[in-house]
Amino acid sequence: MIIPKAPKLTDAQLKEILSIVQDFDCSIQVIDGAGQSVYAIVGDERHELMINRLEGLVYVDRVDKIQSPHKLLDIRSGLNNHRVVFGGVELGKQLLLIGGHCTVDPKQPNKFYETADALKEAGVQALRGGVWKPRTNPYSYQGDAKALEILMEASRRTGLPVNAEVMDEEQLDLALDAGVHMLQVGTRNALNYSLLRQIGKKIAGRDTVVLLKRGRHLGPVNEFISAAEYIVTFGNPNVILCPRGTLPGLEGYRNHPDESITPLLKERTWAPVVVDPSHSVGKSTYVEACSMAAVAYGADGLCIESNIDPMGGLGDDPKQAITPEAFARLAKKCRAIWDLRRG
Ligand code: PEP
Ligand code: MN
Repeated sequence: MIIPKAPKLTDAQLKEILSIVQDFDCSIQVIDGAGQSVYAIVGDERHELMINRLEGLVYVDRVDKIQSPHKLLDIRSGLNNHRVVFGGVELGKQLLLIGGHCTVDPKQPNKFYETADALKEAGVQALRGGVWKPRTNPYSYQGDAKALEILMEASRRTGLPVNAEVMDEEQLDLALDAGVHMLQVGTRNALNYSLLRQIGKKIAGRDTVVLLKRGRHLGPVNEFISAAEYIVTFGNPNVILCPRGTLPGLEGYRNHPDESITPLLKERTWAPVVVDPSHSVGKSTYVEACSMAAVAYGADGLCIESNIDPMGGLGDDPKQAITPEAFARLAKKCRAIWDLRRG
């Protein structure tokens, strides 16, 4: 929809606009309002170059796009009856709970196995465990491919599927070869379009699921959805959107908790939403409240850092991991909220 600066375009201006849109197989429908005329673009208005050319015209005030920029993720797309299934849970039918260490310590495999058993007991349907870690500081522990074997062994022992973050193609290949069930794209890579493309290509034809976290500086919600669109364009629609807090953080919290965007995401897309309260708040004592809020806002699941011995853990665990006992309490409360919401 083209809105001119003046109440109406001149004939010459309309002619110029028409010749631009015709280059992209579109035409113009004039809508004459009482004080202002607007010019609807008829056809596929998603051509970025066409919009840029129109917006570059001095007599055009703005171009409002009506069509969704993410045609596959859009709530009105043909994929809106696609159901993502993970850990035996059909997302949307039952609350999905994922738990595990921020970072799997390759020197202490038993710690991870014990956490995995305790979390299974606490009711999780899937495990998480960082193998390679995106660390702000290059001197911090960066992860270790040896942890991948531990993660997969925990999966075999418990029968639960596992989530691990990948940051490049080499890690992606290793994770897929090992049989990682859910690939995490972390907040720092949420706008790494070449990684998103590689993931999309390599999971096509498999039942791998991708947990796409919202970028720390990702303001516009449509940018988040479009990042998911990158993955889905290659054919595997098993993508889950994961709000995990954005920057700048809320005073006292690690990030700015953003579980409240869940209803907005659900209005625009069919993709399930799994909130990560751990990175949102960054403090174990705040995780339960954030989890309950997320479920109240309509989240389909939660991905929570949990460790049988948070203080003995690596990465974020000492500050934000909850114990499996705390997880069990949280799960009970969150399921009650889930039931309330549906009731
Ligand atoms: C993590 O899950 O441990 C992690 C580093 O995630 P994020 O990308 O949300 O920071
Ligand atoms: Mn972490």
